[in-house]
Amino acid sequence: MLDNLGTRFQEIFKKVKGHGKLSEDNIKSALKEVRLSLLEADVNYKVVKEFVNKIKEKAVGEEVITGINPGQQFVKIVNDELVELLGGTNARLTKSAKNPTVIMLAGLQGAGKTTFAAKLAKFLKKKGERPYLVGADVYRPAAMKQLQVLGEQIDVPVHIQEGSKDARGICSDGLNVAKENNATYVILDTAGRLHVDESLMEELKDIKKATRPQEILLVVDAMIGQDAVNLAESFNNSLNIDGVVLTKLDGDTRGGAALSIKAVVGKPIKFIGIGEKIDDIELFHPERLVSRILG
Ligand code: GDP
Repeated sequence: MLDNLGTRFQEIFKKVKGHGKLSEDNIKSALKEVRLSLLEADVNYKVVKEFVNKIKEKAVGEEVITGINPGQQFVKIVNDELVELLGGTNARLTKSAKNPTVIMLAGLQGAGKTTFAAKLAKFLKKKGERPYLVGADVYRPAAMKQLQVLGEQIDVPVHIQEGSKDARGICSDGLNVAKENNATYVILDTAGRLHVDESLMEELKDIKKATRPQEILLVVDAMIGQDAVNLAESFNNSLNIDGVVLTKLDGDTRGGAALSIKAVVGKPIKFIGIGEKIDDIELFHPERLVSRILG
């Protein structure tokens, strides 16, 4: 992901480093290219503006212009600011003092919630946790079955109530069953809709009230580009989410959403989905992504 941005940045850096000494004009023209590359990568324009201004402030300072290795310093400034933009240090998954930790997943239909629920369960299981899955996607008929099949594959118990349309009831019952079974994590796979609407938000608020999750993670398809940012904003306004899961980052997305969400919504990306398989999940490490982009 963000391969094009990486290539563009490397070209810009090569030019900057080639100058030996940097004039204010050199920096300005490099910044112009940084700005264009970010916009091309589909990063939110306000985020781009702020980002470029920050770099300008730091780079136009005496030190960069008169320093021994100005090009290198410029690269370091861009690197540090990109890491900051992506959320700075790693955002960790909460673990509550008392078991189980409840993680509620929310998102639109097709975002990859059910897949992520199973991926996360396996991820936690590998860490020695005892996850429990709860299937409350009462709108997509196949979702509960899908979760059950995935649960069997990874040997994680799944609570579903076939035929029930009561998402809140399924979640509360599921939580109780998970407690009885000494689960350390309960993952609630909630229903999505094709679009954000009032009834979806009400249902999610209801589930939140009934289960008091320690983490509400919004699962967003990175392929929808800037809409991912708008979506995260509206879910955050209604539910006060704790973090975002960006799925389908393995596709040829431009990835700008990844670079915009933290800055616009104020909530960190916690996980990324990089494929359809159950192991295609990664904890999100801003500095790792930046070093991948900057090479
Ligand atoms: P839900 O409606 O939100 O529960 O979405 P699903 O979990 O059923 O996923 C919808 C589609 O996206 C399925 O075909 C998944 O295999 C696919 N999918 C989910 N996560 C990823 C991912 O990280 N990468 C890719 N390429 N496909 C994914």
